[in-house]
Amino acid sequence: MEMPVPNADVIARKAQLVDGLARILPAGAVISEVSETRAYECDALTAYRCPPLAVVLPRTTQEVSAVLKLCHAMGVPVVPRGSGTSLAGGALPTADSVVLGVARMNDVLETDYDNRFIRVQTGRTNLSVTGAVEQDDFFYAPDPSSQLACAIAGNIAMNSGGAHCLKYGVTTNNLLGVTVVLMDGTVTEIGGAFLDSGGLDLLGLICGSEGQLGVVTEATLRILRKPEGARPVLMGFDSNEVAGACVSDIIKAGVLPVAIEFMDRPCIEACEAFAKAGYPMCEALLIVEVEGSADEIDEQLAVILDIARRHNPVELREAKDADEAGRIWLGRKSAFGAMGQINDYMCLDGTIPVTALPHVLKRIGELGKQYGLGVANVFHAGDGNMHPLILFDANKPGDLELCEAMGADVLRLCVEVGGCLTGEHGVGIEKRDLMVDQFDPADLEAQMAVKDVFDPNWLLNPAKVFPLAVSQSRRHVALAAE
Ligand SMILES: Cc1cc2nc3c(=O)[nH]c(=O)nc-3n(C[C@H](O)[C@H](O)[C@H](O)COP(=O)(O)OP(=O)(O)OC[C@H]3O[C@@H](n4cnc5c(N)ncnc54)[C@H](O)[C@@H]3O)c2cc1C
Repeated sequence: MEMPVPNADVIARKAQLVDGLARILPAGAVISEVSETRAYECDALTAYRCPPLAVVLPRTTQEVSAVLKLCHAMGVPVVPRGSGTSLAGGALPTADSVVLGVARMNDVLETDYDNRFIRVQTGRTNLSVTGAVEQDDFFYAPDPSSQLACAIAGNIAMNSGGAHCLKYGVTTNNLLGVTVVLMDGTVTEIGGAFLDSGGLDLLGLICGSEGQLGVVTEATLRILRKPEGARPVLMGFDSNEVAGACVSDIIKAGVLPVAIEFMDRPCIEACEAFAKAGYPMCEALLIVEVEGSADEIDEQLAVILDIARRHNPVELREAKDADEAGRIWLGRKSAFGAMGQINDYMCLDGTIPVTALPHVLKRIGELGKQYGLGVANVFHAGDGNMHPLILFDANKPGDLELCEAMGADVLRLCVEVGGCLTGEHGVGIEKRDLMVDQFDPADLEAQMAVKDVFDPNWLLNPAKVFPLAVSQSRRHVALAAE
């Protein structure tokens, strides 16, 4: 992966920059020693690393505004960061940048059960949003597998999803309003506390903008009443294709499970060895969960089980109690950790039409053979969001490059069947150069024109989302015009 050329002039002014930051932030909020900035040199895409010039950890929107104003005046790029769990390299610094981490901004600002919203600072972790309201039987629906660690900031930037988003939608469907600080330090409010706030849908623009348009410091989130109950079913099949066809038939039937998760054999074996969840050793597993009252659950499951039986399952296990439900989910929830214990892997994230699942799974298997690399598939099958994990050996010269080439082919395949390059992890650095496979030059130009409006000097989160050569030249044009 090519890295951007750092601005030598900015690096030469590091002492002046650090001094300026220390004047506007409280003690302990500026990190500039290389030994300490190394903790911020990568996110969860650990193959790429680059220590930033400095890191700042503000506590308030006003402090964020002051940092951006200073960096804007000095022409210093800024990389917003939540918890650093991006799998797309979205929070990877450049050598001439300041990382602006919001981890210390984690307060609950307001909870309104009557109007069903909670307002938080965006450094708050996803799971602790539900943690703040669950005693009153409410929850925040988007549930990335990384929810214990990832922050609402990153969730908004990446428009994150999770296992239960089939029914509740992803972050954008659960976000009501934000406070955003623009690169020049201007603080703006977008959206509000209710579903539609009128005017242009700027909230839709901010959500999923990957830190390209502004730094989100506060968010108003929709909270929901906890369902009366939920019940998962574990289904085993003797091929990926049959499992894929079963998913397709469930969706076609019009029932709406809260989640449909898919795991293939390599993933089942790794999860079982790691979590001992009692999974059967078969070619493909589905976990289908429905929720509601006991009658609603029975009614939906009757339809789903009937469809499953038509696909000759080798296992059909309905959870009878909370303990069994927990065990069904245990393996799936530890899938990434389990794979990480036995192999280096690159986790892809593409979306396809659900009906294309059997074809795409078959092609991924063929690509694995062509490249000589193992693949484990685990994904949110109900909404067509695939996560093939390509297995490689980080210590073997050339293996990472091979893995990247295969990953690019898999993502092109997603686009080819009518899907897109990303489902929930974002573009980051990982897919920036593949954007040309999904968008023609006019589409890309329109997207970059939006960035021009919010961040005319191209200082926010550089070298991400847009093909490197294009975004570099855009930044140079902006610098030359100053
Ligand atoms: C084990 C594992 C499982 C995962 N499972 C899922 C999953 O199920 N679903 C899913 O969607 N993702 C998943 N992810 C990916 C990741 O957790 C999400 O992308 C998450 O939303 C990132 O949040 P973060 O706070 O860690 O953001 P970071 O990694 O810190 O940053 C992510 C992006 O957000 C931008 N950003 C951060 N803070 C701000 C801000 N305040 N304002 C503007 N932009 C900002 C960054 O610049 C970057 O582009 C998983 C990751 C791991 C490691």
